[in-house]
Amino acid sequence: MAQKKSKNIGFNVKPPKQTCNDAKCPFHGQLKIRGRVFSGVVIKADMHKSCTVEWPRTFFVPKYERYERRRTRVHAHNPPCINAKKGDRVIIAECRPISKTKKFVVIENKGLDIQYKLKEEGLEEAKFKQKEEKETEEPSAKGE
Ligand SMILES: [Zn+2]
Repeated sequence: MAQKKSKNIGFNVKPPKQTCNDAKCPFHGQLKIRGRVFSGVVIKADMHKSCTVEWPRTFFVPKYERYERRRTRVHAHNPPCINAKKGDRVIIAECRPISKTKKFVVIENKGLDIQYKLKEEGLEEAKFKQKEEKETEEPSAKGE
């Protein structure tokens, strides 16, 4: 079978190297992208052909005249040719509603996000430390 050529989706991103037969793929299917485009990190990719993407934003609080950090989370369609994994930095574009909560599609995978990886590792380490502290504290408390 001849390889299907990636369509020009009208947005300046690298087309995926692999091909797929997904009808909801902007490069190899009928899905068209329009509207807003965001860059975020995949925080969950367990669902079939879907992922959750998160990115930070600032929200102004008038009372304190300062900004607070908030984050946006959306579900996005993850075509098999792109196949973004947890921790990947991706570019997502708005498309027609694919399901009740999916209105975005992943259009580029930029690979593992180092900052996200470090953050995850830091959290794991903190958990481990807490455990260790608890284990060392308990016997001394009993001995007293
Ligand atoms: Zn595809």
